[in-house]
This record gives sequence, C-alpha cells and structure tokens, in this order.
Amino acid sequence: MNQATDRFLALVGDVPASTDPATIRRKSRDFYWYSPILREQLDGLQADCVVTPRTEHDLLAIARAARQSGIFLTARGGGTGNYGQAVPLRGGAIVDMTGLDGLVWLRGDVARVRAGTNMLALDRALRAQGRELRMFPSTKRTATIGGFVCGGSGGIGSVTWGGLRAPGNLLATRVVTMEDEPRAVELRGPDTRIVNHAYGTTGFVTELELPVEPAVDWCDMAVAFPDLTQAARFAHLLATQTGLQKKLVSVMDCRLLPYFAPLRNRVPAGRALVILMMAPAAIEPTRALIAREHGELCYSCNTAEAEDDPGHVPLYELTWNHTTLQVLKKDRSYTYLQTGFPPADALARVAALAAQFPDELLTHLEFLPMEGGMSCAGLPVIRFTDSARLDKIMAAHDAAGISVANPHVYTIEDGGAHRGLSPDLAADKRRFDPAGLLNPGKMRSFEALAGALDGAPNGAGRAAES
Ligand code: FAD
Repeated sequence: MNQATDRFLALVGDVPASTDPATIRRKSRDFYWYSPILREQLDGLQADCVVTPRTEHDLLAIARAARQSGIFLTARGGGTGNYGQAVPLRGGAIVDMTGLDGLVWLRGDVARVRAGTNMLALDRALRAQGRELRMFPSTKRTATIGGFVCGGSGGIGSVTWGGLRAPGNLLATRVVTMEDEPRAVELRGPDTRIVNHAYGTTGFVTELELPVEPAVDWCDMAVAFPDLTQAARFAHLLATQTGLQKKLVSVMDCRLLPYFAPLRNRVPAGRALVILMMAPAAIEPTRALIAREHGELCYSCNTAEAEDDPGHVPLYELTWNHTTLQVLKKDRSYTYLQTGFPPADALARVAALAAQFPDELLTHLEFLPMEGGMSCAGLPVIRFTDSARLDKIMAAHDAAGISVANPHVYTIEDGGAHRGLSPDLAADKRRFDPAGLLNPGKMRSFEALAGALDGAPNGAGRAAES
C-alpha cells in the first residue's frame, strides 16, 4: 500500500474498508475477459483497497478523503460490465456501491430506488406491490440498478420500451460529486445524461427515479424455424404486433443451440430459434401466429417459476449478453460484437452479413424500436482469429450501414453506444470531477484535454500525480 492510500483510509474514518488481497483482486475484475483484446490489456490491473459505503454520508466522506489524498476512485455495482468498465486502470480505491440498497418509495407508476440495489431483489420488491421494472439486463440476478444505468444499454423489456437512454426510461438521479466541496445533487430529465452510461466517471449515483409498469406473469417460449431467415421474419412480425404484450424477442443461429442447456434436448438440431417472453393474454394469439408462420413451439414455461427454481434457467439468461456467456462457458475461442441495424432493410442486412462470414459469425438478434421503426440489435458470436480479422468484420458491418458499438475497447467514446449520451462528456466531467479522480482513463475526451492520454491503461500520466 502506498502513502496516499494510507492517508485516504485514515481520512474515511469508520467507513468499512478492506485491504485483503483476495477481496481487492475479486472486486477489481468484471467481464472484460469476453474480449481477448481487453484480456491482454486489463489482466492483473487492480485497486489498492475497497471501501463499502453504507449511506450517502459515507460516500461523501469517501469523496472528501479522495480529494484530500489524491486517490483514484472506481465505483462498482455487481461487476458484470463487459468492457472493463469497473476495472481500476490506475489503482486507488474500489467503491463497492452494493451497501446503498433498497426501494426508497413507490408512488403510482414511479419508483425511487437506491443505486446499489440488486435488480432481481428490486423487481421482487416492486412485484410485491403489483409493479415491475420496464427493463432489466440478462444479468438481473447479479447486476445493480446503478450499474445498469451507468454501464448498460438495454435488455429484457427493450422490445417495448427501447434502450435505457430513450427519453422517459430514467426520470431522475441523485449524484455525489467530486467537486472541491463534494455534495449530493439531484439531476432530472435530460440532465441525467451526465451520468447515464458514463461508467461512473462523472459522479456516484446514489438514487434513481424510474417509471415502472403493472406486474405481468410472463411466459417464456422457444420457437424453432427451419432457417434463420424465417426465424428473423417471424421475430420482426411478432415484435411489431402492438396488440401482443411482450418483453423479449430474440433470434438465434441454429449453431448456438448446442450451448443452450435448457433447450438443446427440446429443440430439433439444426433449427434457428426465436426466444420470447409473452404476457398471458398474448399466448393464444402468439401460438396462432407461430402456426401460421410454420414455426414449432418447442418449450414454454412461466418465467418467474424458472427464475425462482435453482434447477431451471429463465430463457432470458440465454439472450442479450448471456448468449455469448453460454458459448464462452464451453469454448473460449469465441468472442462477440455489438451492432445496430437501421430499420430499413434490417432483415436483408442480417442475411447479407451472415452470408459474408458463414463460418465466423453466428447471428444473434435482439429486437427493439430504433430510429422510429422496429429493428434489431445484433450481438453476433464471433469465432476469434486475431484483432486484424475482427477489425475487418467490424469494417464490413460499417460498409453495410450497420453501426458497431465496439466491445473490445475500454473508453466510453470508443465503445460507441452514443445514442442519448451527454453531448459533451468532458465538460460534464470537468464540472463534477475537476481533479479527474473518478474511474481514470475511461473518458478519452477528458484525458485528451488533461493531456494525460498516454495509450497505456496503467500509464504513468495521471498516476504520477496521485
Ligand atoms: P458494474 O459492472 O459494477 O458497473 C458498470 C459501470 O457503472 C462501471 O463503470 C462502474 O464504475 C459504474 N457504476 C456502477 N455503479 C455505479 C454507481 N452507483 N454510480 C456511478 N457509477 C457506477 N448490459 C445490458 O445493458 N443489457 C444486458 O442484457 C446485458 N447482459 C449481460 C449479460 C452478461 C452475461 C454480462 C457479463 C453482461 C451483460 N450486460 C448487459 C452488461 C452488464 O451486465 C450491465 O451493464 C449491468 O447492468 C451492469 O451492472 P453492474 O451492477 O454489474 O455494474
């Protein structure tokens, strides 16, 4: 431990802290290892200590102590981010936000929640009062709501509500700043962009206000189709049916089926798959649509029962970024991409890309509204050769008018999930974190302004200042 850390720990007083090496190692990692490129860059980077605030008062003490000692701080929720978002590039303290948890209040269709609340626990607390979250990531069991807003982009529910940053999906946030005198501020409406998907570089979110919906008893469904084109066409058709209440519409290449333990013995081999979550009233018309479009319903189950039973897997844990995880559990030679298809000709573009990379690209689509129409995000599973080949596959997407949010980089700007982000991230950071102590190295525009971007994750640039 260095002197700055000693000073910091002395200044935080009775806030729970740990310097146990195993705890530090565990809390310094996230799921960056999905990317062979990030694995090379981030393996072994870790903090000097972990602090666990219990209250906003504790968090303010941590912020003040960091300003006085010059130590870097990196917020951490469930640690499920994919791009090293919660990996401390330059040491300092991990701030474990999971102590700030619980539902603050529920008033009609608006909930106020603490940022460190686990998303499954939150959904259960809301369901006990007849409401549910509009959307959640497939990591619902482990992620926090604060981590989802600061690091995620959308998920189960996005087919109806769009991405996390679509106007109306986040009403307000309370944020602890790192100004000369750290304080808690309330950001409402568009001002929440300062922290939304900012990787905790602009402040600590302590509370969030979210719209919630009447609770629905969802039903998981797995539908097989002879090929990907028919599966994608059916998924698009279903996603656009405004009369059918739905929470999830996903499409999977037939080669992904062997990695899906709950389905591989239920769905005939070689079939493309559509995974759905439908409301009870939508089940009968969905079955009719499946029959009309020559699909085969191979499996259905109550989502909440699968979620509650340790012997079952809710189908959403095969979708969004869990699809890649199911593959990686068995074969580390794969990685993935994150893409966005414009609504015009989306399905034709899906087919063209699959044809262009027949052996390397396993199609995985998540349907959601985009640019005023129904379209899909792609999370294709990619057989990894080397970074030059990955660049070539990304360039082919670009040339076909398909946007890529590169998951093999650790800076906000290069990751590219820009829709709805603050237009001037660096200005936000200068305002709320003028000393640049929060999650250093993750905001390229700020680092460039500060003259500190040295290209190396653990580079000497700013670390030398601490
Ligand atoms: P963490 O990983 O702990 O943190 C994420 C970022 O937010 C970090 O930069 C951290 O510093 C910052 N942060 C955390 N809490 C705070 C806070 N209170 N204040 C300020 N900054 C904070 N993402 C999706 O959008 N949709 C998905 O469906 C999805 N599925 C996934 C599936 C798998 C298997 C994996 C590994 C990842 C998936 N992700 C998905 C990515 C990730 O799960 C989500 O971003 C998740 O919601 C992150 O929550 P977390 O609590 O784990 O955040």
